[in-house]
Amino acid sequence: MIEFRGVTKTYPNGTTALKDVNLTIEDGEFVFIVGSSGAGKSTFLKLIIREEVANAGKIRVNGFDFSTMKKRDVPYMRRTMGIVFQDFRLIPKMTVFDNVAFAMRVTGAPPRQIRKRVSKVLALVGLSHKARCMPGELSGGEQQRVGLARAMVNNPKMIVADEPTGNIDPERSFEMVKLLSEINRRGTTVLMVTHERSLVERFDRRVIQIDDGSVISDTGVKESHEDE
Ligand code: ADP
Ligand code: ADP
Repeated sequence: MIEFRGVTKTYPNGTTALKDVNLTIEDGEFVFIVGSSGAGKSTFLKLIIREEVANAGKIRVNGFDFSTMKKRDVPYMRRTMGIVFQDFRLIPKMTVFDNVAFAMRVTGAPPRQIRKRVSKVLALVGLSHKARCMPGELSGGEQQRVGLARAMVNNPKMIVADEPTGNIDPERSFEMVKLLSEINRRGTTVLMVTHERSLVERFDRRVIQIDDGSVISDTGVKESHEDE
């Protein structure tokens, strides 16, 4: 669960990216975060993953209270979430398989379990046949799916996806949301930032709109359904 109470974020240069934000996202929800460029969407995600720290207000994520959380607990908090980065952040010198396996190796999982699980998530994102490729040999859409496989591999409670802008065409974005829907149906909370209005309109999901650092609309919780 994500809880924001009176959260404000001002960057050191004086830019206030979020102002007094209040919202709750329950376990199992699928939420789109929308808004124009510079609205504060990435800042919202960065606060959730604790890449940035709020100046005021209270944040709770998956049972961690950020105002009392110790620095050494941050890695444990992050393990409750899978993060799909806008710029993928794949390791260029590792194969697709190893990029995904790496995220699991750092948790100390046994090799046999890693092989089994990595094969499974690569199959889920449709990339079994690319397991031995290097990231540079893949298209943008494929690299994004490697990022998703890596985010899923440790079975997180929640997936946070910052939509890549540049090199993903609308059809690929649509496929990505379908995959995320499938993951959500299995119980994982999904949070996706996007600026593509048409994409959001094709999926009947909760939409939180941010403008100039404030939540300006929120459709509220949508019941899960057989969709798309
Ligand atoms: P979005 O993701 O909706 O495009 P951001 O959260 O990236 O919006 O940015 C919100 C505001 O905060 C913008 O005015 C942006 O220029 C500013 N901002 C973002 N990151 C930083 C930073 N590291 N330092 C200073 N200002 C920033
Ligand atoms: P997508 O439909 O995901 O956008 P593309 O049309 O860009 O894919 O690529 C089609 C196929 O070409 C993919 O299977 C991809 O692996 C391969 N491909 C794309 N770019 C490269 C590259 N730089 N080197 C090798 N193979 C590539």
